[in-house]
Amino acid sequence: MDRFFYTELVRQSLEGQELDNAACVRILSDTSLEILPLLDAAYQVRKTYFGQEVRVHILNNAQNGSCPEDCHYCAQAKSSKADIEEYGMKSDEEMLSEARTAYAKGASCYCMVFAGRQASQSRIDRLKRVLAQIKSEFPGKEICVSTGFVSNDGAVQLKQAGLDRLNHNLNTSEAHYPQICTTHTYADRLNTLLAAKSAGLKVCSGMIVGMGEEHTDIIDVARRLRSLKAESIPVNLLVPIEGNLLSPSESNLSPDFILRILCLFRFLNPSAEIRVAAGRELHLRSMEVMALYPANSLFLQGYLNAKGATNARTLRMIQDAGFSIKSEIDLDDLLKEQPLQEDAVTDGSKALLKSLKELRPAIKSS
Ligand code: SF4
Repeated sequence: MDRFFYTELVRQSLEGQELDNAACVRILSDTSLEILPLLDAAYQVRKTYFGQEVRVHILNNAQNGSCPEDCHYCAQAKSSKADIEEYGMKSDEEMLSEARTAYAKGASCYCMVFAGRQASQSRIDRLKRVLAQIKSEFPGKEICVSTGFVSNDGAVQLKQAGLDRLNHNLNTSEAHYPQICTTHTYADRLNTLLAAKSAGLKVCSGMIVGMGEEHTDIIDVARRLRSLKAESIPVNLLVPIEGNLLSPSESNLSPDFILRILCLFRFLNPSAEIRVAAGRELHLRSMEVMALYPANSLFLQGYLNAKGATNARTLRMIQDAGFSIKSEIDLDDLLKEQPLQEDAVTDGSKALLKSLKELRPAIKSS
């Protein structure tokens, strides 16, 4: 019977049918469904659209901290006491220099992230300048921007300036949203995604799991992103940062459960770029590489403020499992340049934070 279930998951997903609720619940919670055949079924869908390719993203924390919002999971929120390095918007030269470095390290997408509630016109004007510079130097490469709420007009301006994707995560379901943020609503977030879509931008929007949500909330987000036709879906695993409102104890993630979540997102969003995003090292531990069977994308060199695995270790993991990266640069050549070092991403149960040198590598230390 289970063999029929796995076959049906693949068939329905590839034929564009939306899984019913019973199947979604089973994927997340029926432990009689073994993880390897489930991963294999998700891999068949992933392989249809992306083959053996992994898309590498590198984040540029282009402005850090002092955000007036109170997203409980975020170290940049006004409500957080996390000991992060705060700074205003980086210069055009700094952002351009970090774009060059990101693409040289094998990234297919350079993601510029700005703290704050919304994109003001002056920020959009700066972004338009930087986007034009990056696009003229790297016409074939993707750029993604995360800059809070964006109006219809702002989205059109960014599209015209060359932006490929706008990131704005749903983070959790509408029902659970008040538990993770009180300064804006789920509807606010949805409106920005709709503005991006109507401007012709690709949408990057995902979830953070481990914030006390129920299985129904996870299914709800995966379905909502399907209805939005999100092209890129980061599945983040709550990174426990000391000082944030959300405490690590609220995360009940196991490697098995995370892999089931990634499979669910793949079956419901078969052709989307699904990213095993923040927290993969911390929560998946020895099962990290298995995430590449449902997911086809990941971050290199850590997350916004939290450290991640070294580039060499991540690239080696991709290569060891027989995957390639989407880049004109050969994976072997990238690995030759980078010694394989041990990396630490946590101190016990807490995430280690990045230093200023890691956050602003283009700035020369005095
Ligand atoms: S709006 Fe963005 S930067 Fe501000 S607290 Fe929320 S997630 Fe953090």
